[in-house]
Amino acid sequence: MDFSLTKGAVDFIDDALIMDLLGQKEDKGKVAEILSKSLEKKALTLDETAALLAVKSPDLLETVYEAARKLKREIYGNRIVLFAPLYIGNYCMNDCKYCGFRRSLTTAVRRTLTDEELVEEVKGLEREGHKRLILVYGESPKYSPEYIAHTVDIVYSTKEGHGEIRRVNINAAPLDIEGFRTVKAAGIGTYQIFQETYNKDAYRKFHPADTRKGDYMWRLNAMDRAFEAGCDDMGIGALFGLYDWRFEVMGLVSHSLHLQQRYNVGPHTISFPRIQPAHGLDLDLRYQTSDEEFKQLVAVLRLAVPYTGLIMTARENQSVRDAVMQFGVSQIDAGTRLEIGAYHEKASNKEAQDLEKEQFQIADNRSLDEAIRWLLEQKFIPSFCTSCYRVGRTGEHFMEYAIPGFIGKFCTPNALMTLAEYLKDYASPETRQAGDALIREELAKMQEGSLKQQLLERLQDLAENDTRDRLF
Ligand code: SAM
Ligand code: SF4
Repeated sequence: MDFSLTKGAVDFIDDALIMDLLGQKEDKGKVAEILSKSLEKKALTLDETAALLAVKSPDLLETVYEAARKLKREIYGNRIVLFAPLYIGNYCMNDCKYCGFRRSLTTAVRRTLTDEELVEEVKGLEREGHKRLILVYGESPKYSPEYIAHTVDIVYSTKEGHGEIRRVNINAAPLDIEGFRTVKAAGIGTYQIFQETYNKDAYRKFHPADTRKGDYMWRLNAMDRAFEAGCDDMGIGALFGLYDWRFEVMGLVSHSLHLQQRYNVGPHTISFPRIQPAHGLDLDLRYQTSDEEFKQLVAVLRLAVPYTGLIMTARENQSVRDAVMQFGVSQIDAGTRLEIGAYHEKASNKEAQDLEKEQFQIADNRSLDEAIRWLLEQKFIPSFCTSCYRVGRTGEHFMEYAIPGFIGKFCTPNALMTLAEYLKDYASPETRQAGDALIREELAKMQEGSLKQQLLERLQDLAENDTRDRLF
């Protein structure tokens, strides 16, 4: 690996500017203007984002939530995309103070899946009905770009019954340009890297200087290297609880604006995990983000970056997921197991977690079927869609579709098709009943025309001839 920074490396996090902007007081008139701008689906500036973060009074906050709900409905409709994380290995040379995999934690049980075990894990996930995975790795010479590409190949080529994984995303250490080329060639979807905290002092506190991850700029610049390597589908994130939550939102928006300005493509997704209990965790948690703050940060992100998918993970419990999903989130994981090997070695999600073997504790351990039924009860369309990336609607190309509002034309039919596949192949009888009812309701809402006709034909084809995976 070449650990030198690229020539164009820039520090786009202006700490002084962010602190200055965060000093502003709540201003009702300004907030109203900003909300009407964002309802026109325009990305917000840093100053506008800070103005929304300054809102404290409950009535004004409610108008922010209402705007976020409206924007989410208009851009993404009522579908929620589902995925599962798959931990490949937890060897790690870093020592991030919040993580159950950190190198100084000698009691952590270390393991990397063998190729055979990986195949069994994927089959276990396919038997549940999963189609989209994110592979997760510690940072170690064992997990080279070539090794990551090798595991991606195994996942795509493992098929069980009607099961197949159609999109593999990655969450792993930042690579050099050559490394990003290697993983792109393996056909990955999104490459996710979280900055953890955008504040440099806090970053130093949690990531010792003598570790690879101790280099703030190497990590901050990772997405730029990925773009230089031709990847255009990147996920950013911050680990909330390391520093002031408002600063982190400003960091995420600065990062998005930087990528948008420089490469004409913003991040594909933003994640906002909150720190969870983990094996050996002993942290100063004075910045732990409360549920109310969490709600506000998701709503503000939704408004600030209207075309970026927002991911909420099973770190959050069901009631937080209920509260937040309405106004911002477009993707969640479900049926999640973090222990390496657990998708084929543990009987169900309900078995207690063994934190010595896992990165952190999750708060939502429902099965995929339970999560789908919960979404259906709230009138969300659970979606396993993988279409955009497979037909080349990514990066700049994807923005062409997103901005004129074409997404509804592709997303709803794809969501309904992939839901119908799930219901046919994997659902429990109760979930199937709820899902069939929702599909009927959604079809009744659709405008008559060739698109609806095509969808009806394909649904019939699936029911009668078992024809799957036809993309809109
Ligand atoms: N090792 C790579 C890295 O650090 O970039 C891959 C990702 S790590 C396995 C996945 C993410 O988990 C980290 O980026 C961090 O944000 C998150 N994480 C670590 N410890 C956590 C904890 N105690 N609670 C919640 N999330 C945590
Ligand atoms: Fe390693 Fe990632 Fe955990 Fe840090 S967060 S110790 S890099 S696995």
